[in-house]
Amino acid sequence: MPREIERIADQRQKGVSLVPSASVYMTGDWAARHFHHADPEVIEQIIALSTPFIASTNIQAVQLKRWDYAETALPLRSPFIEVGVTHPLLVGGDAFLHADDPAGRTRIESAFLSGVAAAERLFEKLRI
Ligand SMILES: Cc1cc2nc3c(=O)[nH]c(=O)nc-3n(C[C@H](O)[C@H](O)[C@H](O)COP(=O)(O)OP(=O)(O)OC[C@H]3O[C@@H](n4cnc5c(N)ncnc54)[C@H](O)[C@@H]3O)c2cc1C
Repeated sequence: MPREIERIADQRQKGVSLVPSASVYMTGDWAARHFHHADPEVIEQIIALSTPFIASTNIQAVQLKRWDYAETALPLRSPFIEVGVTHPLLVGGDAFLHADDPAGRTRIESAFLSGVAAAERLFEKLRI
């Protein structure tokens, strides 16, 4: 995978499209550097970088989405934080990573792992 691309997802394989439809996610660093460039220029570069995986002759339509705030810049190295004083109150989410998180960035997997860790801690506190 070129280092500019974070991942490529096949929306048909995910079951949300009847036709082959690829979403190409650029890295946060690449996206930030190209955020204010014109659409045709950005699309052309993404297609060029995707060529090893998607033949340009197979592309029938493209859409460019710019997702500001899609990724936390400084994730916490803790799966949740405890902020409750009189009652248990835990805060978690995709920006709360386990200390040994291999990816080191926000994603749906980190949100799930954070939720599981926070729930386990809550059960422990409430002795359920
Ligand atoms: C545009 C985009 C597309 C994505 N696509 C994918 C994908 O295809 N596959 C994938 O695996 N991941 C994808 N992700 C990543 C994934 O969506 C996130 O990692 C995940 O949703 C994070 O879960 P979370 O529970 O931490 O936060 P969120 O899902 O953002 O949930 C936070 C919730 O808190 C609520 N909230 C906020 N403030 C308050 C408040 N003051 N009071 C009460 N409620 C509040 C919000 O309304 C929201 O419901 C995508 C992310 C973005 C931005």
